[in-house]
Amino acid sequence: MFNPWSAEFRRLFFLLLLALIAGLLFGEVALLLFLVLAGYLGWHLRNLHRLYTWFNEGRRFHPPEAAGIWGDVFNLIDRYQLRNRKRKKRLTALIKRFQEATAAMPDATMILDADGGIEWFNGAAQSLLGLQAGRDVGQRIVNLIRNPEFRAFLALGSPGEPLRMASPVNEHIILSFRVVPYGKEQRLLIARDVSQQQRLEQMRRDFVANVSHELRTPLTVVNGFLETLSDEGEITPEQLHRSLQLMSQQARRMSQIVEDLLLLSRLETDSNRPPRERVAVAAMLQVAAAGLNPLAQERGLQLQFECDERLWLYGAEKELYSAFSNLITNALRYTPQGGRVTVRWHGDSQGAHFEVEDTGVGIAPHHIPRLTERFYRVDVGRSRDVGGTGLGLAIVKHVLNRHHANLRIRSTLNRGSTFSCHFPPELIVGEER
Ligand code: ADP
Repeated sequence: MFNPWSAEFRRLFFLLLLALIAGLLFGEVALLLFLVLAGYLGWHLRNLHRLYTWFNEGRRFHPPEAAGIWGDVFNLIDRYQLRNRKRKKRLTALIKRFQEATAAMPDATMILDADGGIEWFNGAAQSLLGLQAGRDVGQRIVNLIRNPEFRAFLALGSPGEPLRMASPVNEHIILSFRVVPYGKEQRLLIARDVSQQQRLEQMRRDFVANVSHELRTPLTVVNGFLETLSDEGEITPEQLHRSLQLMSQQARRMSQIVEDLLLLSRLETDSNRPPRERVAVAAMLQVAAAGLNPLAQERGLQLQFECDERLWLYGAEKELYSAFSNLITNALRYTPQGGRVTVRWHGDSQGAHFEVEDTGVGIAPHHIPRLTERFYRVDVGRSRDVGGTGLGLAIVKHVLNRHHANLRIRSTLNRGSTFSCHFPPELIVGEER
């Protein structure tokens, strides 16, 4: 294999030999040896200078041309630089991709140094934590998020339990902070928006509490009667009859709650399968009317229907029946004696519309957005008196969601309310049926 060093030593050896021979011929050995060595040194110095300027200028891409060992040195350095340039390019592209990915991440992400100073953060950190790109790099995070709990959490430094805390810019956003140590005493701080999760957990807790409460009330009543019946020695047949009547009323209430809950849970589980039966809505409403007329009469109310019999709908008949009869029952329940309930079913270019208008007690505006929540009632006493479970409108909302329809509520206190369901035109069954 070619060895540049032995070639270079050979070159020096020949030069010195030449100088020695010429020196012996001319009788000036020392002078010629000196001249040759000085020339050799000059050649080295010149190439060292070229190396220096090559590095110093920095702009020049190609190495200087040179013979001998210097040519090899220049080529080696050039190859090494080329490799470095390629590696740097690759690394820059990788960092750029990493930054783009973390910038697009919905979680606020920050790199902190050993003192908790911010080295880098992404876009989500700006919106969720209120950090500002130009201002906050280099600042200590605890000076920007001033909260004793957060300070203690960060001081702990280990990736233990995440910390839940409201966002410093919006108290409605709940963040879950995590610390991940990495590199040389650096830490990655990640904050995730868990508001939705928190809301769901709260809803679940409320739901369990509500169901227990709803079932406990009738159970307490039934228990009370049973205790009285077993304690009292002599009970008149009238007393017994009355007690049994009240107990069965409470039992009916409990089974109605359970039925409504089961229906709700079925609707939730089925939420991905769109219903697709052909429903003759007007005929279905006639059946509902037959069942509801006695209630209207009992309450001294006028119940009117204005329905387009030709208007059919794609949907789930049982669910629509349940939703529509819930709305009509509500209107009958919350309308005082002598009032009127009008049910309409009609279609236009916007779609098909089901509407129940009553001349009842009405609802104050601040209650309206919450009416479809489970167990939400404007007046708990009144709802229980009329046999409500507080789940009717939640069922209506679910049924409508499954039909891509929406519910609108208009109401004036002490004047009456109109509950209307709007179905998209795609759900209307065409003429051929
Ligand atoms: P409930 O079983 O209590 O009727 P719903 O979910 O059907 O439960 O209704 C929730 C609440 O909305 C009711 O408790 C009542 O306060 C109010 N509401 C519903 N429909 C009407 C209406 N037509 N007029 C006045 N208030 C109504």
